[in-house]
Amino acid sequence: MSTTKRDKYPEHIYLDYPPFNGWSVIMRGHGLTPEQVEEQVKAFDPGLTSTGVTEEEHFGYMPRVKNCGDRLGTNCDQDGEWHGHWYALKANPDPSTHFTLAAYKDAEASL
Ligand SMILES: [Zn+2]
Repeated sequence: MSTTKRDKYPEHIYLDYPPFNGWSVIMRGHGLTPEQVEEQVKAFDPGLTSTGVTEEEHFGYMPRVKNCGDRLGTNCDQDGEWHGHWYALKANPDPSTHFTLAAYKDAEASL
């Protein structure tokens, strides 16, 4: 069977709060330079460009959850379906929980 550990980053993440309000890119690590963020956004999809809006957060990942609204208190359009889910953690020194979130725009479109 496939591994339940999520190790494929950068990845898409839906963030339902400002300043993101939509699809963004999640990447491993803190302390990334704007150039490294741009590199990761491009690695996710070469057609995208970072807007420069980033946040450093602490996350865990639940590979298989059905009722995420109840369990994680999220407002998620996959609630009721089996899917994977990030969840916020308190700040801590464990580097495996260090993620940077980056808003992006389509290279062709305006935000
Ligand atoms: Zn969910």
